[in-house]
Amino acid sequence: MALVNLGCRVNRVELDAIAASLQKAGCELVPEPDAEAVVVNTCAVTGEAEAKARKAVRRAAALPQAPVVVATGCVANLFVDELAELGDRVVVEPIKGLVPARVLGELGWSEGSGTATAGGTPTGRTRPGVKIQDGCDNRCTYCIVWKARGAARSLPRNEALAQVLAEVDAGAHEVVLTGINLGRYSDGGFGLAELLDELLERTDGVRYRLSSIEPPEVTPALLSVMGQSGGMAAPFLHLPVQSGSAGVLKRMGRLYTPAEYLRVVDAAREAVPGIAVACDIIAGFPGETDEEHVESVALCRRAAFANMHVFRYSRRPGTPAAASPDQVDPRVIAARASELRGLARDMRRTYVAARVGQPELVLVEGGGKGVTGGLVECLVPDGIREGSLVSVTPHAALPGSLLDAR
Ligand code: SF4
Repeated sequence: MALVNLGCRVNRVELDAIAASLQKAGCELVPEPDAEAVVVNTCAVTGEAEAKARKAVRRAAALPQAPVVVATGCVANLFVDELAELGDRVVVEPIKGLVPARVLGELGWSEGSGTATAGGTPTGRTRPGVKIQDGCDNRCTYCIVWKARGAARSLPRNEALAQVLAEVDAGAHEVVLTGINLGRYSDGGFGLAELLDELLERTDGVRYRLSSIEPPEVTPALLSVMGQSGGMAAPFLHLPVQSGSAGVLKRMGRLYTPAEYLRVVDAAREAVPGIAVACDIIAGFPGETDEEHVESVALCRRAAFANMHVFRYSRRPGTPAAASPDQVDPRVIAARASELRGLARDMRRTYVAARVGQPELVLVEGGGKGVTGGLVECLVPDGIREGSLVSVTPHAALPGSLLDAR
């Protein structure tokens, strides 16, 4: 089998779970041109992402050995029939948990089908992710993910704990908790802060990282657990901001103002000293004026992000924003995105330089390198085993935002 991942961190985590189940059932991971089955995990976040998904399915379906191509993910949820028409052996399976059984069934491995489902099998990765939440109840006007993924839902407490602890038992020293709207994780009154607290309580020498969390979901309880964890809850928050303009945020359907966003950033810095705050931001949302773009730049400077993912707005058919008549000229979008990327590079350099001389917990990922709690690559002394979590003090920042603790 071969795997093609398109899209976000959640997709990556889900594909890892699919791969682990298939490997457990006896499948071997091989390059696409040799595979009997190709799983394409699609993403529909932008029109561009959707086009990429169709291209990947079409390319796999055209391989000379005619593999079974199983398409899953957001595009598979939204456009079942269209994807199925891309090739004779294309199978669309919107429910990711059922993909392994579907692959095995299509290959005629009947002994495996029905028993292999994704999730709950440790992936054996150095920094595995565990998806504890899916779906979203927000309706951001540029987004189709909430339509594809459905309403917010969470793994039951025991299941979430069991899946994370299985990764720890398999040797992981860092586990990334992921979800489409992770901050909405809840099983009764047991939320993300409680889950993190219990995991920290029950394990030793394991760091936990939150993938991405909507700003309004960052509660004082969560910050307090992070702040008191001694770095075992990674000092890192990825808080999608999308714009620094109150008007644009409102038109996007985002649930906070710039001032509220900055209050979350300040509270995080107070509770977790040295925390790395990262964001997603969209340049050129429909109707974005020069003044509104300047407001975005100002918010980014004020937030002093450690990392920024800058996206050029691209029309996502089926969303309210795509139907808006005041689309921004693509050249203006490109110029705004480039200004934001320049600022992002400067701020990253500043954040990385400030880590020099500070003790860091580094998860060693091989090749003499690892990642800090704030997600900066760091060179470590020779001879440290891959997968270990070690405390080091970087003595220099090298070009390419690389710390040196050798
Ligand atoms: S929070 Fe907004 S952008 Fe994120 S998945 Fe939900 S609707 Fe989409």
